[in-house]
Amino acid sequence: MAITDKIYVKNHRQLASQLDTSFPKSAFSGATLDILFTGDGIAKLDEASRDRVLEFAEDFLDCDCQSHPHCGCPQRKFVAYLLELRAEGLGPDAIVDVMGDDYMLYAYPGDVLSFLDDGVRTMEAAERLAAVDGREEMEDELREKRRELT
Ligand SMILES: [Zn+2]
Repeated sequence: MAITDKIYVKNHRQLASQLDTSFPKSAFSGATLDILFTGDGIAKLDEASRDRVLEFAEDFLDCDCQSHPHCGCPQRKFVAYLLELRAEGLGPDAIVDVMGDDYMLYAYPGDVLSFLDDGVRTMEAAERLAAVDGREEMEDELREKRRELT
């Protein structure tokens, strides 16, 4: 499962009752993107929740793809957001705190940790491949990126 399948909406039950409809707890499930983040119901949310929901939509659902918001861009952008937080030096617990403050989302720190570990391993593998192929510039660039994450 991708990390974006393990990102959840905080106060899920409360929001569902404000919207007067149910949607999955998982933030990136198709129905949640439709109902909570791009639906007409946003106006029914209390102000604090509405601000976070709009913030999320602005930051991750701002593409013009035909299949929006089911095009994969939201997930890609969110992964980039996580990596950015890591590059700023945040650990899994702090990353979970920040996504809660920013977007009213939560995840289990253990899931964030394994996501970051996987990312580092993928980069190590790519680095080794670049080294084997003699692509030094690529190898250096990957090593640099990986350092940002660890
Ligand atoms: Zn898109």
